[in-house]
Amino acid sequence: MEQVVNKNDLIEITIEDIGSEGEGIGKYNGYTLFVKDTVIGDRALVGVTKTGKTYGFARLVELKKPSEYRVETKCPIAAKCGGCQLQHYDYAKQLEYKENKVRNCLTRIGGFHDFLMEPILGMEEPYYYRNKSQFPVGKNKDGSTAIGFYASRTHSIIDTEHCCVSAKVNDDIIKIVRSFIEQYQIEPYNEETNKGLLRHILTRVGFCTGDIMVCLVINGKHLPYKDVLIEKLREIPGMKSISLNVNTANTNVILGEKVKTLWGDPYITDKIGSISYRISPLSFYQVNSLQVEKLYNIVLDYADLHGDEVVWDLYCGIGTISLFIAEKAKQVYGVEIIPQAIEDAKMNASINQITNAEFFVGAAEEVLPTKYKEENLNADVIVVDPPRKGCEESLLDTIVQMAPKKVVYVSCDPATLARDLKYLCERGYELSKVRAVDQFAHSVHVETVVLLSQQKPNDRI
Ligand code: SAH
Repeated sequence: MEQVVNKNDLIEITIEDIGSEGEGIGKYNGYTLFVKDTVIGDRALVGVTKTGKTYGFARLVELKKPSEYRVETKCPIAAKCGGCQLQHYDYAKQLEYKENKVRNCLTRIGGFHDFLMEPILGMEEPYYYRNKSQFPVGKNKDGSTAIGFYASRTHSIIDTEHCCVSAKVNDDIIKIVRSFIEQYQIEPYNEETNKGLLRHILTRVGFCTGDIMVCLVINGKHLPYKDVLIEKLREIPGMKSISLNVNTANTNVILGEKVKTLWGDPYITDKIGSISYRISPLSFYQVNSLQVEKLYNIVLDYADLHGDEVVWDLYCGIGTISLFIAEKAKQVYGVEIIPQAIEDAKMNASINQITNAEFFVGAAEEVLPTKYKEENLNADVIVVDPPRKGCEESLLDTIVQMAPKKVVYVSCDPATLARDLKYLCERGYELSKVRAVDQFAHSVHVETVVLLSQQKPNDRI
């Protein structure tokens, strides 16, 4: 059979959807094409670059009729930078797209039809929201210093002085480090040769407290003339912690294991709601402080605690959800696979004087069955917040056996969310409500909170 579309064909299509990398998706006589730099509603002339059996790729040749939802990007490098994929798409439409993505996954993969979907919680200010940034340091073609972001799917650095989604104070930090590098001829790291000293600038900002951290990742043990740099960085109001991270490995993992505090504290403090968290350069911490508080409030609302419940927080990271809900529960148990995160969780419990939260290190699918079968620990509510791949079936089986009244599922991937919900709803749970939250404006990512309730025995099929 002759293919509908061939390589190098020039065709006109209308963009109807957005793919997982932010590329536009359109159809030509039923054949799906992915086209970078287009948004829903564009009518575009495209050149086919690659074809497969069921779908192909094309590049934008000419916008015949731009979508009415195209907007001017705030950031001049948005199209090249790998950070934002949707900045050229109206923010209200981005939210609509994300909400639809969740609804479609629940319908197509989960088989759910009539369910309560509450409106997506968008950001009031969809710019300057990231509390953590990592700027790679390298060289431009002319030899000058490049500090910025990796271009989409590459490791070439786009030099920039300003990022529209990161904390504004980064402008001052970059300016100071850039002039320090140039004045004292500090050699930027070169990934190909594994030579050069300065690899990355990591910054963190406590949005609630105003605390600021700068950590320079170096391929070596010492930073020459460091006192001059410290002197300058200290002038920034809110500066609390300046450190070095040693990473001498030939790897694209950004951080090494060793941190050496040069000035100030080894951590900054931030708050989510009324709970304080200490954050060191290596700690995991949610990137969007304002939206994460909204997300945790939905978790709390869905869990509907009255003070006498045993709650499990599986995949708990540094215990942020556990500590956020502890005041409303009798006992909280957090489970997390990374030992350092559990150390942080315990410390955060202690600085907040929370005594009803206990934390266990290990895989949720191993710890929960053990604690249930061997130590008879039970659950009234189970919260899960797994990485993109979702939960193991063995964990879901244990949840079914423990039969908590409610399961609150926090997900960063609607497809695996839908798969796991289907599994649980075939085994005694029903989908009560769903709400998406935008944590990363201008990216394709969406976070979702779902409440599952145990069906009354009579309702079970
Ligand atoms: N709930 C936390 C973190 C969620 S991110 C918060 O809101 O901040 C998901 C976490 O799951 C990560 O910290 C990751 O280290 C952890 N993780 C990954 N696989 C795991 C597993 N099998 N068992 C337990 N934790 C796991």
